[in-house]
Amino acid sequence: MDGIKQDLTALESLFGEMAAEAKGDDAELYDCPLCRDTGYLIENGYARPCTCRNDAQLLVRKTSAGLTTRLRRMRFDNFELRVYPADLKLQNASYRSLAKRAFEDARRFTAACIRGEETESILFEGEVGCGKTHLAAAITNELLEAGKDVLFLVVPEFLDSLRASYRRENEGMDETEIIKRAYQAPVLILDDLGAHNYTEWVSNKLFTIINHRYNRSLPCVITTNLSIMELEQNIGERAASRMLESCHIHRMAIDRDMRYQHNLAGLRL
Ligand SMILES: [Zn+2]
Repeated sequence: MDGIKQDLTALESLFGEMAAEAKGDDAELYDCPLCRDTGYLIENGYARPCTCRNDAQLLVRKTSAGLTTRLRRMRFDNFELRVYPADLKLQNASYRSLAKRAFEDARRFTAACIRGEETESILFEGEVGCGKTHLAAAITNELLEAGKDVLFLVVPEFLDSLRASYRRENEGMDETEIIKRAYQAPVLILDDLGAHNYTEWVSNKLFTIINHRYNRSLPCVITTNLSIMELEQNIGERAASRMLESCHIHRMAIDRDMRYQHNLAGLRL
C-alpha cells in the first residue's frame, strides 16, 4: 500500500510538473484548475477522477447532439420573462403571458421526457429573436444532462443533408448517418424551419421522417418563423398537417426594441 501511495505521490508531482511545463503555473490557464487538466485529483495519496471528467463527457455528448457553444448557454434559468412586454398583445394575450406559457410547456415537456413518459411534440412559432431557439436549446441541454439522447438539427443545414441524400440514393447508397439519427433520436429538435426551396423530394423525405416518428410516439420540438399557412405552402400540406396534429403550438412575440436591449445586455435570445 505504501508503495502505491509513493507511486501516486510521484505521479501527482509529475502531473503538476507536466501541467506547469505545458501551460505555466497559473491556475487561470487550466480549463479545470482543480486537477490542472490531468483528470485526476490526488488526495492523501489516493487518486480519484476529477469532476471535470464528467463535464468533458457531457460536452462530447452535447457537441454530438448538435449544440454549439452559443446553444449550450441557452438555459431555462437564463430565459428572461421580463423582456416580454406585459402591455403588448397578440390575439388578446400579452407577449409575456404567451412567453410564460411557452416556457412552462417547455419545462413540462422536458420533465415528461426525463420520466420516460410519452408526450406530444411542441412547436414554437415567432419571428427571429423571440426566444424560440432559446427554449429548444434549454430543453436539449436539460435532457442531455439527465442522460437522455437528443438530436438538435438546424433545419437549413439539415436540408442540405437531405439534398445530398437524394444524390446518394440515386447512386444506390445508404441514407446518411444524420438522417438515420433523425428517424431514431428519442427527441428530435428541428430548429429554424423556414422558407426554403423545398423540392418535392425533400418535402417527401421530411414527411417520412415526421410520420415515422409520429407512428412511434417519438416527440419533436420545432421552431419556425412561418405561420401555419406558410408552413403548408413551404413543406407541403401532408408534412405540415402531420407535424401540426402532434404538436402543442405556441406563438411567441417580442418588441423589437426590447430584443435589441436584450441582445446588448449579452443575454442572447
Ligand atoms: Zn478536473
